[in-house]
Amino acid sequence: YKQIVLASRPKNEIIPSEVFRTEEGGPIPTDKTLKDGEIAIKVDYLSLDPAMRGWMNDTKSYVPPVKIGEAMRAYGIGTVTFSKHPRYNPGDLVVGTFGWREYVVTTGSGIEKVILPQGATPRDFLSTLGMTGLTAYFGLLRHVPENVLGPNCTVVVSAAAGATGSVVGQIAKVKGCKVIGIAGGEAKCRWVRGELGWDGCVDYKKKGWERDLREAVGRGGINVYFDNVGGDILDECLKLAAPHAKFIICGSISQYNTSKPQGPRAFLLVISKRITLKGFIVFDFLKEYDQARKELAQWLLEGKIKRMEHIVDGGIDAAPRALVQLFEGANTGKMMRLLLPL
Ligand code: NDP
Repeated sequence: YKQIVLASRPKNEIIPSEVFRTEEGGPIPTDKTLKDGEIAIKVDYLSLDPAMRGWMNDTKSYVPPVKIGEAMRAYGIGTVTFSKHPRYNPGDLVVGTFGWREYVVTTGSGIEKVILPQGATPRDFLSTLGMTGLTAYFGLLRHVPENVLGPNCTVVVSAAAGATGSVVGQIAKVKGCKVIGIAGGEAKCRWVRGELGWDGCVDYKKKGWERDLREAVGRGGINVYFDNVGGDILDECLKLAAPHAKFIICGSISQYNTSKPQGPRAFLLVISKRITLKGFIVFDFLKEYDQARKELAQWLLEGKIKRMEHIVDGGIDAAPRALVQLFEGANTGKMMRLLLPL
């Protein structure tokens, strides 16, 4: 079977032909090749996440860097094909950190058996019920007090049409907030306003977007800003923040492809406006995933959260280019997932 390994570390943007290499991963695992305690998994979908760019850097972070020559780290969902492990049976659906591989052989560490809640699909475990949905859930609900979220609260979300941002805004709507998105392009903004029913969405690629944002936010200013992008958009939101605003620093995608990331230039406003900046990592809430998934699954079932998927076809070979496209905003209103043919 095939696997794609990290061949060299990118300095700035990812150039797939330079940083990745396709290799033979090994023989397709069978009942005969498995040892006692092992399971074989056929990978069905791989998740493409902006965080993968950070994992390629040789820097200390919340997880160790991917080693040169190692299969590129990636979450995935797959099906158990053979098992010599007491907890798994052929046909079981599993999620975990599989890497860019068509098959995985494991003793079970780092993988979870999926029990589908009513109305949920396997792919939900890479999106709304997976890392991005959980990030939205904990990022918003664990950092903004329940009594703050409501009709008097204006929430602004960047990368609004993306996997995490779109769920953040939908949860804020469930809580009755005024929600304004920021996204690249009018088509994404139309989807956010129309399909998701947010109160506004500003296209940051349009000239004069700063004025559009100011008008959409209104005189009261921003009470909660959920930051997925950093850079100029974070600066503009600092300028529009209400006193005592909460800024949830979830990600900073505009700064991932450079070795010299830009911090907020409007930083002094944090002092004068008494703004709280709160960073977090979704893994901090590992013990609460099951409870969050129950609530998110219920919202999916009731149609309060809508699914959005951007599936890239073409097998594992399409993974490197698809990862680059995530940084180009190709996932219009949906998240990127890679389909591996049977
Ligand atoms: P998305 O589905 O949101 O995809 C990324 C989106 O970012 C693109 O669609 C694009 O949309 C936007 N984007 C790309 N480049 C830029 C740029 N230069 N300026 C502004 N927007 C840009 O990805 P995810 O939902 O997976 O991730 C969203 C954020 O959440 C990331 O920053 C990620 O690192 C972070 N994250 C953090 C976690 C945590 O534990 N703290 C866990 C998971 C994710 P557009 O067309 O609108 O530009």
